[in-house]
This record gives sequence, C-alpha cells and structure tokens, in this order.
Amino acid sequence: MTDFHYTTDAEGVATITWDVPGKSMNVMSLEGLAQLDALVDTALGDPAVKGIVITSGKKDFAGGMDLNVIARMKDEAGAEPARGLFEGTMRIHALLRKIERAGMDPKTLKGGKPVAAALPGTAVGIGLELPLACHRIFAAENPKAKIGLPEILVGIFPGAGGTTRLVRKLGPLAAAPALLEGRLSDPRAAKATGLIDEVAADPVAAARAWVLSATDADLVKPWDQKGYKLPGGAPYSAAGFMNFVGASAMVHGKTMGVYPAAKALLAAVYEGALVPFDTALKIEARWFTQVLMNPSSTAMIRSLFLNKEALEKGAVRPAGIPDQAVKKLGVLGAGMMGAGIAYVAARAGIEVVLIDAAQAAAERGRAHSADLMDTAISRRKATPEQKAELLSRITATTDYAALAGADLIVEAVFEDPTVKAGVTARAEAVVGPDCIFATNTSTLPITDLARASQRPDQFIGIHFFSPVDKMALVEIIRGKATGERAVAKALDFVRQIRKTPIVVHDARFFYANRCIIPYINEGIRMVAEGVEPVLIENAARLVGMPLGPLQLVDETSIDLGVKIAKATKAAMGAAYPDDAVDDVLFWMADQGRLGRKAKAGFYAYDAAGKREGIWAGLALHYPHAAAQPDLTEVQHRLLFAQVLEAVRALEAGVLMDIREGDVGAILGWGFAPWSGGPFSWLDILGAARAVELCHGLTERHGLRFAPPRLLVEMAETGQTFYGRFATARKAA
Ligand code: NAD
Repeated sequence: MTDFHYTTDAEGVATITWDVPGKSMNVMSLEGLAQLDALVDTALGDPAVKGIVITSGKKDFAGGMDLNVIARMKDEAGAEPARGLFEGTMRIHALLRKIERAGMDPKTLKGGKPVAAALPGTAVGIGLELPLACHRIFAAENPKAKIGLPEILVGIFPGAGGTTRLVRKLGPLAAAPALLEGRLSDPRAAKATGLIDEVAADPVAAARAWVLSATDADLVKPWDQKGYKLPGGAPYSAAGFMNFVGASAMVHGKTMGVYPAAKALLAAVYEGALVPFDTALKIEARWFTQVLMNPSSTAMIRSLFLNKEALEKGAVRPAGIPDQAVKKLGVLGAGMMGAGIAYVAARAGIEVVLIDAAQAAAERGRAHSADLMDTAISRRKATPEQKAELLSRITATTDYAALAGADLIVEAVFEDPTVKAGVTARAEAVVGPDCIFATNTSTLPITDLARASQRPDQFIGIHFFSPVDKMALVEIIRGKATGERAVAKALDFVRQIRKTPIVVHDARFFYANRCIIPYINEGIRMVAEGVEPVLIENAARLVGMPLGPLQLVDETSIDLGVKIAKATKAAMGAAYPDDAVDDVLFWMADQGRLGRKAKAGFYAYDAAGKREGIWAGLALHYPHAAAQPDLTEVQHRLLFAQVLEAVRALEAGVLMDIREGDVGAILGWGFAPWSGGPFSWLDILGAARAVELCHGLTERHGLRFAPPRLLVEMAETGQTFYGRFATARKAA
C-alpha cells in the first residue's frame, strides 16, 4: 500500500498521484515523504520522462502534515529531539528543493524537467508547500476549495519551505495574511494574491499541457536567478525597512509577544531575507525546530487541532445511539440568543420554527438572519439565493402548534424559571414523544428546570455563547435525570451547526461561566485594593487574555454582574466570598455606569460608544495605592483565579474530560490560547510549582487561592494532567 501512485504516458509525462489509502483526505507521513522522494528520483532519472504532474486521487489535494511526523522525528532522535526535528525538517527541504531544481544544471540553470502541481480542491499546509516547490500551480475551479498555510493558528508556522518560498514569491507584505494570519483563500482569490498560478476547469489537463510546452526559463524560480530582488524590498532598503519595522510592531501588538510561533516566523522571514535561498531554508528549519520544542506549540496543537477535532467528531458522544441529526428545530424566544440559534440552525439546512410571545418579536428574530445574510452578501460570502433559501427555512410565529413534528426544542426565553416552565409545558403538549427539549439558560440549574418537563430524561442544557453566529463553543449540560439519547441529540445538533461541543454536569454556572466569573471578580477586587486599573488590564492582555477583566465586565454589562452577584449570594448565604467585589460592582451600578451599552463603565466611551480609557472617576473613589504589585503577581492572580476553578470543576466531576476543559476555555472565553488551556498551562508550569505559587497567593490574598487537593496530590506524585487524565474519560 503506498500513498503515491506513478504512471507515465506516451508523450513522456509522469503523473504522481497522491492518494493515501483508507483516508478521505491526504496527509503527509514520513512514509509518504520517502515514497514521493523515490518517485521523484524515478521520474528525474528516466530519460523518457519529459515532465512531471503532481496531483491527487481524491477530491482535495491535501490537508497537511500528519502531526505524528513531528512526534516521530523527536522520538527517533532519543536524547536529542531538537536534532531529530532539525534534521527531519532539512530532509523535507532537500526533497522539495530537488523538485524545484528538477535536475537542472545549477550553473546554466538548463536541462531541468518541468514539474506542475494540479490541485483538485483544498490544499493546506504541506499540501501547499509541496506545490510551492513545483514550477507552476494549477487549481480547479472549485469555490469550496481552501488554499493556504493555516499553521500559525495552531501555534506553529509553515516549516517545509512555505515561509521562505511564499515570502520570496510575493514579498513579505503580500505574504503576511497567509503566513501571519493563516488566511485561507478559494482558488480564485489564491490566484489573485499569487499563492497559485492558474485556475482551470481541468487542472490535470492544464498542468500536462503546460509541462509539455514549458521552456528551461519557465523552470527557474526568481530566487534562483541572478539579481533576484525581494518583492517590496529587502530589509536594508528604504521600503523593506518600513515593512519589517511595521510588521514587527503589528505582530507584537496583536500577539502581545506571547505566541512563540509568530515571533519565530518573523525572525525566519527577516533573517532569511538577508541570505541566499538555501541558507534561508536552513534558518527556517532552525526557527521551526525552536517553535516545535516550545511547550506552547505542543499544547496549542493538542487543544486547537487534535482535541478540538476529536470533540467535533464525537469523542464524548455516548456509544451505541443511532444518529440523532435534527430535522425540525423549535426555538422558543426570538431575542438575542433565540434569533442567533435560529440562524445557525437554518444555515445548516435545518427547518426552524421561531416562537415568541408577540408576532412582531418573532419577526424581529427572523430579521436577524436576514441582516446576517445581507452582511455576508455584501462581503461576497453568500448569494441572494442563499439568503432566500435560508429565510424560507425559518417560520416566525406565536403559534405553538407549528412546533408539531419538531425533534428538538431549544428554549431561549427570559431567564426566569416560571416563564421557562410555562413554555416547556406548552411545547411538550404539541411535540411528539421522542422530541428532546433543551434550555439555553446560563445560570439556572438544569435539574431544577427539568421539573417542569414531563420527560426529564429528554431534558438537557444546550448553552450557546453570544454572539451565537460567531462563538464556536457550545456547552452541553446534563441534568441529574438527563438520559444518553438527549446527550447524543445535543452533540449531533452541535455537529450539524459546525460548532465545538463540550459536555459537563449540572452545577452553578456550568463550566465556562464558572471560570470566567472569578477572573472578572479578581480584576474588580484589585480595583478595590487600589491596584491601578491600567496595570490590571495590561497584565491580562500581556498574558494572552483577549480582554482585560474590566473591559470584559463592561462588555457583558455591570447590571448583569450585579444580578448574578445577588443571585449567587442568595444561593450561597454566609459562604459567599465576594462582598469586596460587590462593593465596587454595586457602586458602579449606582453611578449608572452599566458598561458599554450605557457608554459608561470602568472605561470611558465617546458619544459614538468608542472606548477611550479607564474612567477617571474610578480613581477618585478607589484611589491608587502608593505601592503597586509587579506585573507577574497581577498575572498570576488573574490566571490562577480561572485555572483553580477549572481544577475544582474537574475535581467535582462537573468537567469530565480535561480535553473539554482546555478546548472549552479557549473557545468559550478566550483563555490564553498560547497555553493550550488551563490544564495545559498547569502542565507547562508543573504541579509542584503551581502549588508553590498558590501557597504564596493564598498567604497574600486569601483562601480562594488555596490549591485544590487534586493539584496538591499531583505535585506530590509528580504527575501532569495530560499524563494522568489523557484518555481516561470517566463514565458519565
Ligand atoms: P432576550 O431578552 O434578548 O430574549 C428573550 C426573548 O424571549 C424575548 O424576545 C421575549 O419576548 C421572549 N419571551 C419571553 N417570554 C416568552 C414566552 N413566554 N414565550 C415566548 N417567548 C417569550 O434574552 P437573551 O439574551 O436572548 O437570553 C435568552 C436566554 O438565553 C436566557 O435564558 C439567557 O440566560 C440565556 N443566555 C443568554 C446569553 C447572553 O449572552 N445574552 C448567553 C447564553 C445564554
């Protein structure tokens, strides 16, 4: 069984077809690389072969490198993993460079064989780096195809020559969106930016024709020609200097310096631009090795690629339950959340009945989908026909009878148990006996709400985040009585709407809100202590949080914070630990500073609602202390507030799987993605060091930082979370 097939034809064109057996998408393995290497040798060595076409036997070209390659390169080098990675990377460079030189005389640049890549569909990662080494890239007219280098999104960068080649082909500025943002394009856009050369109805035929007509000059890459100049200017030219200074500032502004891959990518580009091509490849390989050796890249790949995908593919779905794909969805409450849920479901092809108390409200909810589609149309991401089709799937009504035949109901009415109980009973009276009923509550226990249901085993929480169309995470909550089919239904629904699910048990604030509230509270607590708000906010951003805690509470609104605080205090009684936080929060509410929506919160806003800076009045009421804590202390407070809650959620069995804990944290509330999530961060830190830091924080700031028993035990036994819980999923 081989990953590549080789054929030659009467005209002397050798076709190398990539078709990994048993997989729907080609991925590159070490074996694949060796096979490709041998076939390239065969073609270059055969005098009857005039040129080569590299294509795929599948509908797409390739999805990238098999990530096991990295692990194997490391492992096979024993005590010297960095050497293994560097040498393994250099072997890939050698292969791709061989394709690029294609047997030509290095002095005269003559006598090479033309090599063209023909891409039927998606070509990402090594799936584009290999074509970039060919002499010409043809892609099919396939608007669904995605072409690009998404490595940066999982914490690495294109390390098989993609960085060096793309920068030399397009110039650093034009290559930046593909390299630094991992932007993927359809074939037409990829041709417009120069990522590929041609779009053709039949790319293999076009590639063949080109190969047969190519001249010596067509095979020489610009960077192999005398007098090559980097497009846009080399670093030490007037124009190039500005590009590199600007790029450096922009990247640092966006990443706050916490992403090793972004820095390494820039360094590889800058240093590579100063030296000849082959030396640049070597520099790329060194930086690539450095990034792969950084625990952040391992953690990011694990959470944002491997585990995210595993969860999307049903890693935690109860076994043995047939497909529960939703055909007709009822959404109760057409407010902000209900309208968003109706949209994502209709977009996935599901028929939706959207109900509200008044017809006008239901219509407004449906209009939300029209607005979103109008934006998509204006950005050429959708067509008017698609808009009409999507809207035709949403029925906006007040009539519960329209719910007949629905197989899933998601309720998103007011956060009030009585209102929720009312709509539960009305819906259940109409739907069939198999229908699953879900609530989108953020704060009310699922088990309590299920009491209003005739079929509590078919009652579950499906918790979306706002804005629904943008947020990738959906938290599925099992109440005490929730049955397995309800869980499977919720997971299948989330898969249909292409979001990432985590499944948790029912406890106050479930998982995501449980961890984010202590983060906000820690920030507010520091305000009360006289820590400068600017220090609090910048400390958070500099450790990779997308929003500082004060900005976050402004966004979600102060009055919501007050409401949650009051409800929590009422539920916890004397054990309530956050009075110091409430002093600030309640005072802010009394001042009418309700957050961004009021254009007044911890931040000041201009008349148009643009955030300006920390509100000056805050310091009058909470003066800055003379002695300010150092940055790391503030960062540790903000991070431990979240991760200790995550550990407690795991200890309490609310969270059942650390993979869900990490993926959920990054997608749900933006927990420092560079770390791979709370559990990955604790593993990077080491349990022993984490416990030591917790003891210090407890001494200085109170018992909320006391290390949970699980963490202490792990410190004592030298365990890591991924060592201890890697694949273990406790029976739910
Ligand atoms: P919203 O006030 O925007 O919408 C609620 C809608 O329900 C309104 O349109 C209202 O007219 C309708 N409604 C009220 N009673 C009804 C009834 N008896 N029958 C039919 N419709 C009725 O609120 P929202 O922000 O969309 O929140 C809805 C639910 O989602 C709440 O449970 C909330 O806790 C939860 N939630 C909200 C967010 C968020 O960020 N806003 C996030 C996750 C979950």
